[in-house]
Formats: sequence, C-alpha cells, structure tokens
Amino acid sequence: MQRRMTTEELLVSFDDAIKHGHIFAYYQPQFNHSTGRMTGAEALMRWVDPEAGMQYPSDFIPVLEENDLLYFADIQMVEMTCRFLRQCIDDDIPVIPISFNMSRNDIFKHEYVEDVENIRKKYDIPVKYLRVEITETSAIGGMELMSSVIGRFHELGYIVEMDDFGSGYSSLNILKDLDVDIIKLDLNFLNGNVSGRGGIIIRSVVQMAKWLRTPIIVEGVETIEQADFMKSIGCYYIQGYLYSKPLPEEEFLEKMSLAHHEPTKSPIDLLKTFNADNFWDPNSLETLIFNNFVGGAAVFSYNEGRLEFIRVNRKYIEEIGMNISERDFIESNPWKYFETDGKKLFIDTIKKAIDSAEEETCEVWMTLTSDCCGTDRMCIRYHLRVIGNAGDEYLIYSIISNITAEKKSYRDLYESERKFAFASEHTNTYAWEYTIATKEMRPCFRCMRDLGLPPLIRNYPEPVIESGLFQPDYAEMYREWHRQLAAGIGSLEAVMPLTAARIMFKVKYTTEFDENGVPVRAYGSATPLQ
Ligand code: C2E
Ligand code: CA
Ligand code: CA
Repeated sequence: MQRRMTTEELLVSFDDAIKHGHIFAYYQPQFNHSTGRMTGAEALMRWVDPEAGMQYPSDFIPVLEENDLLYFADIQMVEMTCRFLRQCIDDDIPVIPISFNMSRNDIFKHEYVEDVENIRKKYDIPVKYLRVEITETSAIGGMELMSSVIGRFHELGYIVEMDDFGSGYSSLNILKDLDVDIIKLDLNFLNGNVSGRGGIIIRSVVQMAKWLRTPIIVEGVETIEQADFMKSIGCYYIQGYLYSKPLPEEEFLEKMSLAHHEPTKSPIDLLKTFNADNFWDPNSLETLIFNNFVGGAAVFSYNEGRLEFIRVNRKYIEEIGMNISERDFIESNPWKYFETDGKKLFIDTIKKAIDSAEEETCEVWMTLTSDCCGTDRMCIRYHLRVIGNAGDEYLIYSIISNITAEKKSYRDLYESERKFAFASEHTNTYAWEYTIATKEMRPCFRCMRDLGLPPLIRNYPEPVIESGLFQPDYAEMYREWHRQLAAGIGSLEAVMPLTAARIMFKVKYTTEFDENGVPVRAYGSATPLQ
C-alpha cells in the first residue's frame, strides 16, 4: 500500500507528520573503499504517511520548499540526528559523523545556524559528529550570506560539505569563494558513466580538489567498477548503493555498531608531485582542467616586482571583461589596468603567498579603458598560490572572480539607505546615522531643526540621554541597544517615550554590515505614534 500524496494532502498533513514523527531520517553510510571502513553517514529525509505509505524527497521537498515548510522539516532532521547520536553515545556505541542537508530557505528566512547549534547543545553532541551539507544553488544570489553562514558554522566547529558539486553552474571558483571542507561529487549527474568524457570530467574535478587539498566523497556509486575507478584516481570515500542504501535507524545502528570506523582525511599534498611538464602540454589532462573547469585562471611568474603572464584561460579574460585572444593578453603589459593602490596590494599579496606557501587572497580595483566602451572600473578578487620557484623567480597560480556587482550592490544599499534618510524629511520621521566604531551620531536636518541637535554627536547616546531627549527610565535599554549594534544585531525596534513631554515614538535601527559581515553603521529613525 503505497501511493504518491497530492500537494494538498502533503500540506494538510504536514503539521501532524512533524508532530507524530512521520517525517524522519534514513541514514546512508559512507565508506573508505580502500580500507572498507565506515567514515560517516548522511541523514536523508523520509515521510511515511499512515495511509499513503512512503513518500520520497524528490516528490515532497519541492512542495515543502514552495510553502516555506522545508525549514521545519530540516530542523526536525537535525533534531532526529542528534537524538540518535545521543542514544548511541549513552549506549557506548562508537559513532561516526552524520551530515544533514541545509536548504536555501533555511538561511534566507531563519536563524538556522543558531537553531542547529541549540539542538546540538540540547543533546550535548560533540560538534565533530555533525556536518552540514550545502548546495551551490543555495548560494545563488546570496554569496555573502552563504559565506557568513559557513563562517558561523566554522566558528562553532562544524565541518561544511559542498553537496552535488558539478551539478549546477559550479565552477571551481565557487569553491574558492566558499570555504568548504569536503566536496561531494555525485555520479548521478554523469549517469554513472565513468568511462569516456564522464571519466575525464570526474578525474579533473578530483585532481583540482587535490590541488585545493579538499577531501571528496563520491555519491551515487552503484557498481564495483565505479568504485574502483574512483579509487584509481585517488578518491576513496564513497556513498552509494554499492555499499549501502539509505537505512532506517535500527538497521543503520546495527551496521554502524559492527563496522570499523575511520575519520575522513584530506588528500596528501599533491603539489609536490604535481607534474609540471603535463601542465604545459596542450593535450594533457592538466591543460583540459585548466581550460574547462577552473573558471578564470592564470599562471604567471613573479620576480621582484616583475610580472609576466605565462598561461591564461578564456574565462580569465572574459572575467575581466576583455575581448582579446589569450596570446594578445599575455603579450600586453600586465600592469596596464592596475591602479597604484591596487598594484601595491597585489604585490604585497604575492609576497605573502611566497612567505606563507599558502593561498592568499586580495581584492583589487582596476580601471579598464577601451575604444568602444570608454572607462569602466571593476573589482577583481585574486586567489594566489605559489606552485614553484627557481631562485627568486616564482611561479604563481591565480584564480580570479569579478566581484564588481557584489561591491556595487553593497554600495547601492548604502545609497538607498541614505535616500531614505532624506525622504524621511518629508514624512513625520526623525532619522540619524550612527557609526558603530566611533560612536558618532549624525542627525537628519529635522532632528537639528526641531530638537536642536548639533550636526555631530560624539559618544552617542550619552549626550542625548543627559539632555533628557531619551528618558531616564529608558536610558539603560537604549544604551544596551548600542552594545547590541556593536555586537552585530541586524535590527532593533521598540516604542518609547521621547522628550520631557513623553511623546510616544516608534524607534528603529537597521544595521549596515561591510562585506566581511562587520557592523559598520546603523540607521536610526523615530516616528511619533498618532
Ligand atoms: P542528495 O542530498 O544528493 O542525497 C543523495 C540522494 O542519492 C539520496 O536520494 C540517496 O538515496 C540517493 N542515492 C544514494 N546512493 C545512490 C546510488 O548509488 N544511486 C542512486 N541513483 N542514488 C543514490 P533521496 O534520499 O531520495 O534524496 C534526494 C534529495 O532530496 C537529496 O539529494 C537532497 O537534495 C534532498 N534531501 C534529502 N533529505 C533532505 C533533508 O533532510 N533536507 C533537505 N533540505 N533536503 C533533503
Ligand atoms: Ca545531500
Ligand atoms: Ca548529493
């Protein structure tokens, strides 16, 4: 007795399904194909309706997503996973890390990271046993938000995995922008075909991931041939029907109890064994990777301020908005588009990359002048890594992304907030701008005119509390607001009496963050309640 539920049925039964545990986790273990040991597992959502039977994620997840319900189901999965782990730990059963899936709406509309962390704490699960899977698509249109979510998970100690890598609009650039710890490569996207072109793509991605020193878990492995192929290219971690289907809790528990375990390790540093000859061979795999899978990339040599491009791919040139051949690009003056500050920053970053032998990043503004389009400014993010040297001459591998749009949208936001402040002059609102680092407040014209405030108030809010504009019984709360702004709260709002006449106002703050998520300014407003 099993049938697909209709959208309406799903929506009507959702609350009950959550409440009665009809939505729960199956666990699919992951193995090291080299040693046969279990290395982790993924929690996959299942819904068993008392009447319609088992429902699969591909059918019900899109419905939940469209109706803003997926978050509650995702959180339920974290809860179930933690509860399961807690039970195992209490029963002295050795456990392995379990991954749960995060979806786009989880972070756009909810305090997802905090909610996950609270559940983890509630069950007192060591953070090393929990991993979060994100997808490239959830980052679309929200790279900054995604980076900050990853950053917060990292601060709390969670491992972050990039799910379904290679499925969407992925390029390795996204890996550069998003600091993930593990890549999951899904053979389903290649119809499991590891021979011919499919094999080449996989091989390239694996190779690149090794350069990045990121472990890979291959999903959807169904046959021993696929597993052996993956092993032959140095990719051991496997999740798929070959080893195990997703299992209900009791079966998974049994399998986990019996299995030997081992942690997922990052691949050995292949840079040393990196075959430089192949890199220059037009028919080599390295060339193929370079041209097809890395987004904008270049190799250049650097020697005491002298920069020379050696190789650059098509995407690199496109990324910086040019329309010339690779050859012309290599022959042109490499510093042509750099501004003075940018050039200095770029050289400093190269030096840092030489000293640290790690990847270093910088963001550089450039000015492009062309016959057809006139002058344009753009911001390029460079990731630089030394891949070899001969004496003082360093060979540097660079991946770039054009982040002008990102930068501009940040500035647009700033502008629109400013315009808002001006618009408020025409409404009944008093507005001000508060600079968090310096505690300086700049009031709008109306505040100055009606309330007699000076154009700049230092050590805000103390002077306005003293002046009696903010009432003593609200002073501590208002001070606390400013501490919260400094701590990074996004917005604040309350109704409070202002002036000696205790006129009721709605007072609001909206915080503006810089691209690193640091709170910079807060925009305040006070509107009298009619
Ligand atoms: P996914 O995260 O890529 O999960 C892997 C899917 O591949 C699972 O399908 C799994 O059963 C299936 N699979 C595993 N091994 C093999 C194999 O060897 N061959 C083939 N052909 N397939 C294999 P499932 O469980 O139906 O989940 C489908 C998708 O639904 C997941 O893809 C994920 O995107 C989403 N999903 C599942 N659980 C959750 C969840 O808790 N939250 C969210 N937001 N999404 C979930
Ligand atoms: Ca997944
Ligand atoms: Ca996947």
